[in-house]
Amino acid sequence: DETLSALAQTGERDLETTLRPRKLDEFVGQPRVREQLELVLESARRRGVPPDHVLLSGPPGLGKTSMAMIVAAELGAAIRITSGPALERAGDLAAMLSNLAPGDVLFIDEIHRIARPAEEMLYLAMEDFRVDVVVGKGPGATSIPLEIAPFTLVGATTRSGSLTGPLRDRFGFTGQMEFYSDRELELVARRAATILGIAIDRDGCAEIAGRSRGTPRIVNRLLRRVRDYAEVRADGKVTLEVARAALKVYDVDELGLDRLDRAVLGALTRSFGGGPVGISTLAVAVGEEATTVEEVCEPYLVRAGMLARTPRGRVATAAAWEHLGLVPPPETGR
Ligand code: ATP
Repeated sequence: DETLSALAQTGERDLETTLRPRKLDEFVGQPRVREQLELVLESARRRGVPPDHVLLSGPPGLGKTSMAMIVAAELGAAIRITSGPALERAGDLAAMLSNLAPGDVLFIDEIHRIARPAEEMLYLAMEDFRVDVVVGKGPGATSIPLEIAPFTLVGATTRSGSLTGPLRDRFGFTGQMEFYSDRELELVARRAATILGIAIDRDGCAEIAGRSRGTPRIVNRLLRRVRDYAEVRADGKVTLEVARAALKVYDVDELGLDRLDRAVLGALTRSFGGGPVGISTLAVAVGEEATTVEEVCEPYLVRAGMLARTPRGRVATAAAWEHLGLVPPPETGR
């Protein structure tokens, strides 16, 4: 069919876009956030006003960007996309804001990384749909008030804890995105396989789901790598055996931990005797940025019960030692 052949022609990079769910009822998982958002959106629709500003928080790859696009689609509104790091100066934000049409959705990814002057401008924009643009410097500087169209801000963050109080308080609703269950990830894999025209059986789906660290973006990535293997080394169909063999090639272990996850656990146990060790020391030991270790690796390692964050630093649990095939020191807790 026409859409499928068009899809087949899109490159790898565009696949992320192709695989995004478009509507709330296409969105797999996150039942709590979905129900809450449905109420926020429906009530705004009935009252004929733009809904409250929405903050989506959770680890990377759980669908915050997809959810923001769905909010716009459900409202029948256009979406403008930017990110915290791109808003270095207040002027960058003023330009974005003054281009909004009434009812638009403004999506700011990584909103916790927004620069201070832009953040302060955002307060007034969120509250009163107004900004004060400062013209000139020093004693001659004047501020010109500028009306902006009523809009809905959707912010996404991997660390809601690093949002300032005043910014957090201006969101009327915060959706906490959770890791997905294996069952939900199987549905994500099934859906993506259908869209991409990949032949896969039930066990193949389950295997990929079980190794995706609770994260749909990882499902999509592993599915593509397993498909490559199936096409080159097998008959094209993804079965349990094919999935296992492929994931071995790509260094994804039975729990879905990748090289970096294992490096973190390896350093924590072998080099630091199980901890406690500070995050920056740990990051240096694995040659990564502290924020990557903290925001990308740790949430899942904590959820998998292998790493604990304590006030004195990171600690490996007995499960971590065992997963690496090591004997935990006697005092290690679970
Ligand atoms: P980041 O925080 O890095 O921006 P994110 O949480 O915004 O990540 P998305 O970019 O929305 O994540 O999602 C990543 C990919 O995972 C999407 O391209 C989409 O294909 C898939 N995906 C996410 N959530 C779902 C879902 N609930 N159902 C189906 N596919 C999903």
